[in-house]
Amino acid sequence: PLAKINQTQEQSLLAQDDRYLWHSMKPYSPSSTMVVKEAKGAWITDIDGNRYLDGMSGLWCVNVGYGRTELAEAAYEQLKELAYFPLTQSHVPAIKLAEKLNEWLGEDYVIFFSNSGSEANETAFKIARQYHAQRGESNRYKIVSRYRSYHGNTMGSLAATGQAQRKYKYEPLAPGFVHIPPPDTYRMEDAQTGDPMRMRCVKDVDQVMTWELSETIAAMIMEPIITGGGILTPPDSYMGAVSEICKKHGALLIVDEVICGFGRTGKPFGFMNYGVKPDIITMAKGITSAYLPLSATAVKKEIYDQFKGSEEYDYLRHVNTFGGSPASCALALKNLEIMENEKLIERSAEKGAILLSELKSRLSDHPFVGDVRGKGLLIGLELVKNKETKEPIEIDKINGVIAACKKRGLIVGKNGATVAGFNNVLTLSPPLSISDEDLQFIMKTVADSISELK
Ligand code: PMP
Repeated sequence: PLAKINQTQEQSLLAQDDRYLWHSMKPYSPSSTMVVKEAKGAWITDIDGNRYLDGMSGLWCVNVGYGRTELAEAAYEQLKELAYFPLTQSHVPAIKLAEKLNEWLGEDYVIFFSNSGSEANETAFKIARQYHAQRGESNRYKIVSRYRSYHGNTMGSLAATGQAQRKYKYEPLAPGFVHIPPPDTYRMEDAQTGDPMRMRCVKDVDQVMTWELSETIAAMIMEPIITGGGILTPPDSYMGAVSEICKKHGALLIVDEVICGFGRTGKPFGFMNYGVKPDIITMAKGITSAYLPLSATAVKKEIYDQFKGSEEYDYLRHVNTFGGSPASCALALKNLEIMENEKLIERSAEKGAILLSELKSRLSDHPFVGDVRGKGLLIGLELVKNKETKEPIEIDKINGVIAACKKRGLIVGKNGATVAGFNNVLTLSPPLSISDEDLQFIMKTVADSISELK
């Protein structure tokens, strides 16, 4: 650990940060940078010694909480025994982890390891396209996804992303991606019916796949709950209906579990809330609780079997140097063991339900709180100027709530459609191991900070 830092050292650290580090997704503002030094449980400490409850688990990923020495030890022991070998061949931690993931998924999948959620999705797109090509349907190249979704920062995964403001300065991205509207139970009245036959957002999947020509569609990619686009919990019937439409058009269903996986929504994987069986499942973040980089693309065995032909290019021409590194896999196994032993998935379901109902009962009548929604420890509060028109609240007001929470010692997130004015959803995604006391602190802090809104 770093030694205690005095004020002069802090000034110089901030100056070095400003000079050398390019931050993710942060407008240029050196004075607002928080340099985090250490963390334990749900709490982070910055170099000034300020403590904050991390209500977002970093970027929705530190599922078992910070400071788990057994995870550090699992990686350390593995690094001593075998630091690296590529998965063009094999090693024990990767085999064991692939087997374990199968157990979590329901025993029907083959696993390809990478390092990030974006790569896991890129891998899924390539597998989907090649799968169809090997069955003689090489016209199937299009990937359908929803507006407001986020699927990654690379040229394909960003093309799948449905948030224009994240994309337009980098275009043209990878071609062949088609978008449809998401299920938004707050803003779309037909989605409130929950009847898939009446929901535009379901019918659009069928229509767009028809208009684009079924035989050109390779796959649809979706998160069970759109997270980065504003915690859009769909009607219970939505995902099953979309899955059936994909089958009808011969498209594979890729489910992005990068955030929803590993207990976040109160089930091992988010899709398990909705009774569907995806063809491909992508995962990252919570797989190691972000202690080391790792991601995975789980592919149904019968799809994998299409890659076993004896022709020269029948195998997947896709290699990933660091993907599935031994230490990441060993750490992931330990991480899953912690989740099982401490029943963190059940905890997420139970504590998430309490958090949701408490926030609803304390805040639903507030004039600026339009909607409170979520599943498990994944919650969004949509703030509006006017409950009748549902016009999003001004950005400085939502920023004010975030600042008020931080002043009280709580980090919360902000998300939405990420087009001008629509970044109006406060997000909560705390570690699944969060204590009851910390949960109370979140409820009180969010409620107090929102009640100050004028
Ligand atoms: N899919 C989803 C749903 C995500 O939220 C993210 C990252 N926030 C990604 C994919 C991309 O993951 P990564 O940043 O690890 O590339």
